[in-house]
Amino acid sequence: MENNEKEVLFSVSHLKKYFQVDFEVIKAKLFEAEDKTYAFEREWKDKSFYFKSYLVEHDGELKIIMIVHDRTEERIKNDRLKTALQQAEKANIAKTVFLSAMSHDIRTPMNAIMGMTAIAKEHLHELPRVSDCLDKIDVSSKYLLNLIDEVLDMARIENDKMILQETAVDLENIVDEIFSILKVGLYKKDQKLTIDLSGLKHRYVYADKEKLQKVLVNIVSNAIKYTDVKGKIKLEVKELGCDDEGFCSYQFIVTDNGSGISKEFLPKIFLPFEREENSVTNKIQGTGLGLTISKRIANMMQGDITVKSESGQGSVFTVVVKLKLQQENDGSGQESEDAAEALEAPPDYTGKRILVVEDNELNYEIIAEIIGCAGITVEWAENGLLAVEKVRDSAEGYFDLIFMDIQMPVMDGYTASKNIRNLEREDVGKIPIVAVSANAFSEDVHKSFVAGMNEHLAKPIDIQKLYTILKRYLTC
Ligand code: ADP
Repeated sequence: MENNEKEVLFSVSHLKKYFQVDFEVIKAKLFEAEDKTYAFEREWKDKSFYFKSYLVEHDGELKIIMIVHDRTEERIKNDRLKTALQQAEKANIAKTVFLSAMSHDIRTPMNAIMGMTAIAKEHLHELPRVSDCLDKIDVSSKYLLNLIDEVLDMARIENDKMILQETAVDLENIVDEIFSILKVGLYKKDQKLTIDLSGLKHRYVYADKEKLQKVLVNIVSNAIKYTDVKGKIKLEVKELGCDDEGFCSYQFIVTDNGSGISKEFLPKIFLPFEREENSVTNKIQGTGLGLTISKRIANMMQGDITVKSESGQGSVFTVVVKLKLQQENDGSGQESEDAAEALEAPPDYTGKRILVVEDNELNYEIIAEIIGCAGITVEWAENGLLAVEKVRDSAEGYFDLIFMDIQMPVMDGYTASKNIRNLEREDVGKIPIVAVSANAFSEDVHKSFVAGMNEHLAKPIDIQKLYTILKRYLTC
């Protein structure tokens, strides 16, 4: 007997009462069995028992000896293993479904990009044809980029990596900006967006502007996408009340008179990659991830998203979020500087010199081409170490700006920036260093600042944002 085992004697009446042991049946089984043993299992309350019975002769009499093992722990372990196995199988299926959805969603725009590139090459001398191909390549690349962003957002949500970065914001500004972001889409479909802010009494709050805007842009842009030309869309902001700790619940209600959603699809609407299959949605590009992400973000803001809709009857999406009010006069919800500073084209920066630190030659070529147009002299360093050496060996004030990739062989961009800032010379404290990186999350932006960089530009490069940065650092 093992240390943790106890010997317990059961009476025959116990066995009959609690375990429904029928000795007549057991006797019959024992006589039948060649080795004169018989085993069976019983559950009692939440415990599991294993009974092994033996037929033995004792003092000329046949007797039954029954040994009972408490197998509860073993069963619990087995149950756990079974659940783990089921979960692993489920995760595996989910992964396969996810990968095949991803593969399909990536291949579709890639097919357009490659196909249109081939067509453009065939018609190099027909300008309108080439221009049409480039427009289509542009649309598909943007879709692909959006898909990558959404998949990464999903992964970050699943791994609990997404965090809210709250700053003082003005809800009225957020709504105004939503209109600016979406107005081209509205004009194209000749739709009317009515904004009703009459229920907004406390406009100055703390919120993660980028994420709140993402949720609202997603829902209003869905309303635009799934509503016909000349359709009507309404965005209403209401308050559901404030608590003693200075938090208010806000309701953003987006109503459209578009295609509506069938009652079969409604329960699946917030699931990843789910898109309704019908004649309207089939013609519209989408990933089926936007609402999943939006709902999770609303949940992070102690709120939720709900939807009411019927096929052909339009839809009403309601976003509720809880936000902390700003104290009186402690801020005014700052405007995005980038939006205000955006330029159409860069002025002439002849005489200025920029060091581009980038290990990928094609990426270097792209950025050099964009900034070269503005008359800037561009120099190239293929990794962080070469960049540090170039700055160290140049005259004071030689470079006016450095664009720094982050992931590079030999020395990464963070280390290179720190080393440049630590060089023993006058100008290195002031040279603007701009991170240009495919790592575009707020944690990455924070890391760039910690490493001593002044700005963080995400790849693929947004040309207007690049021009804004040039303007900020090259005009004195
Ligand atoms: P996407 O629009 O990229 O497909 P979403 O997660 O934003 O992904 O939406 C999921 C699906 O929900 C859409 O494909 C569409 O079928 C449906 N849907 C969302 N919003 C609306 C709306 N306003 N009207 C009709 N259907 C909608």
